[in-house]
Amino acid sequence: MPEEMKKTDEEWRKELTPEQYHVMRECGTEPAFTGKYYNTKTEGEYVCASCGNELFSSETKYDSGSGWPSFFEPSDPNAVEEKDDTSLGMARKEITCGRCGAHLGHVFEDGPTPTGRRYCINSLSLDLKEKPPAA
Ligand code: FE
Repeated sequence: MPEEMKKTDEEWRKELTPEQYHVMRECGTEPAFTGKYYNTKTEGEYVCASCGNELFSSETKYDSGSGWPSFFEPSDPNAVEEKDDTSLGMARKEITCGRCGAHLGHVFEDGPTPTGRRYCINSLSLDLKEKPPAA
């Protein structure tokens, strides 16, 4: 289980861009097909843009056509947390960072095998650590 990291609102505002703050602290959503990672095929590990917690591997990323980076499984079951979200009149499951609590996106049950899940994540909440080229 990743160690929890508590930050003050002031720290969040200092470390995040206004766009990131809106998504990660106010549960905002970046417009579809605008994020920097929705179409990325580069190999590597996607970490939390706020605390660096490893969230998703490129090996579980797939093209969902939604316009947001989509994964079928987190790197570790404890890397993310799920919470019921009934905002906007919809019953959804919100996904937050298991370490710092930042909002990442939502998970839906229409994903591919083997999990059948679609983790629909904002690019703004992610930072891709590219895999070094094989020596
Ligand atoms: Fe985090």
